[in-house]
Amino acid sequence: MKIEFYGASGCVTGSSHFLKVKDKNILLDCGMYQGRDEKERGNETFNFNPKDVDYVILSHSHIDHSGRIPLLYKQGFKGDVICTEGTKDLCSVMLSDSGHILESEVEWKNRKRARQGLPPLEPLYTEKIANVAMYLFNGYPYDQWIELFDGFKIRFRDAGHLLGSAIIEMLIEDNKKQIKLVYTGDLGNKNIPILKDPTIIDYADYLIMETTYGNRLHTSISSELTDLAKIIKSTFKRGGNVIIPSFAVGRTQEVLYTLNNYVENNILKGVSVYVDSPLASESTAIFSRYHKYYDEEAQEILSKGSDPLSFPGLTFTKSPEESAKLNKVQSGAIIISASGMCEAGRIKHHLKHNLWRKESSIIFVGYQAEGTLGRSIVDGAKKVKLFGEEVVVNAKIYNLHGLSGHADRDGLVEWLEALKAKPEKVILVHGDTEAQESFNELLLSKGYSTYIAKPGDTFTPELTPEKFSVVRNRILSVINSIEDLDSTDKELLIEKIREEIKDI
Ligand SMILES: [Zn+2]
Repeated sequence: MKIEFYGASGCVTGSSHFLKVKDKNILLDCGMYQGRDEKERGNETFNFNPKDVDYVILSHSHIDHSGRIPLLYKQGFKGDVICTEGTKDLCSVMLSDSGHILESEVEWKNRKRARQGLPPLEPLYTEKIANVAMYLFNGYPYDQWIELFDGFKIRFRDAGHLLGSAIIEMLIEDNKKQIKLVYTGDLGNKNIPILKDPTIIDYADYLIMETTYGNRLHTSISSELTDLAKIIKSTFKRGGNVIIPSFAVGRTQEVLYTLNNYVENNILKGVSVYVDSPLASESTAIFSRYHKYYDEEAQEILSKGSDPLSFPGLTFTKSPEESAKLNKVQSGAIIISASGMCEAGRIKHHLKHNLWRKESSIIFVGYQAEGTLGRSIVDGAKKVKLFGEEVVVNAKIYNLHGLSGHADRDGLVEWLEALKAKPEKVILVHGDTEAQESFNELLLSKGYSTYIAKPGDTFTPELTPEKFSVVRNRILSVINSIEDLDSTDKELLIEKIREEIKDI
């Protein structure tokens, strides 16, 4: 078997790792490049023939992991997309929204091109193609082994990063040799609202690991949440609005859950909260269908008959007219809008009407990729361009990255150290160079063997069952079951393993 690295190697967006197992070609994620990566690498072409791909195994629905599946389909992929049930449902709204955005962007460019006498451009894919591509999706529950073909089984484990997000365990068998490859996808931050903490995995022979915040420590979520309440109160006192650029799926629901808490506990009184993103409204409805994925705290709220994503004063705006009305609101509104990195969507209008006002606040609650409008605001730009017009930045800018959906450096290490044995190799992906190098050094100092994946690299894991897999699997089974055994059984089991090791 072989792994080829393309997207999210040496960068954060465009996740896509190509596995060759026996005669099958498998893509781990098929994400869109965003911001700087999009400009440098482009989304139009793949480094392989889409027709040759048999499976896409999808870790979660974020566009930087799923966004190029419709393009893959458009260019000839007719295999299966394998993901969790939640990811499938979220993709059905997110990919169609992505198609819609791509179409409108091209429409806008083409009007300009027509005036310049240039031929029209084609969108990467349309909303319609995205909808048709959904027929390739197969949703599965967590924690269940799925045999995709002879000698290749996978299992999704809750990654705690987004509703439906998964760590992917892959058991590969060839000639009675076996290895377990694990792909973390994006690993969640502990204690984020609604979601469970990332699942601890037994072991991995080879681990492909994300490193988004490999060099950063988040402030604690609870202090960030207290800050959020304070910022809202002080902004309203100044007579401004609170604008929250937010990923429509995931972060928006977490923010709503938090605001619901404030309202229920009288921390905020009489607030007007607007979710101004059709995608955010649709995905909030999907969240409400997946209570089984909620963590204990959210389950408790549900058991009291209350909906943690709904409260008095909350409005989901639908039409563009309703959205435009918000431009006239001078103060007292919390507007949550997408896209999260301010590159597209209704958020740009809210920024245009609030960025220049010192009374207003802009609160960032998610990762801002390099080269995006969101990133330049977070980095302290004094002026930005919106709809071809220069807008001065006078509003107060906050960056609550403690609310991030990604584990920070310590979270990543804690998850890794919970494995019962060190992997043969920890392959680092999904991180900017600085984050990766710093995280790499830390892992080396802890005795891990590592590999930083660069775009175009090929990695060949070794299948060495005689030395590792058999013994390791037996020992793991003892570790897992020994607690429940009485002492005679324990001795019998240990004796049996001793015999097996001798045989090997
Ligand atoms: Zn993600």
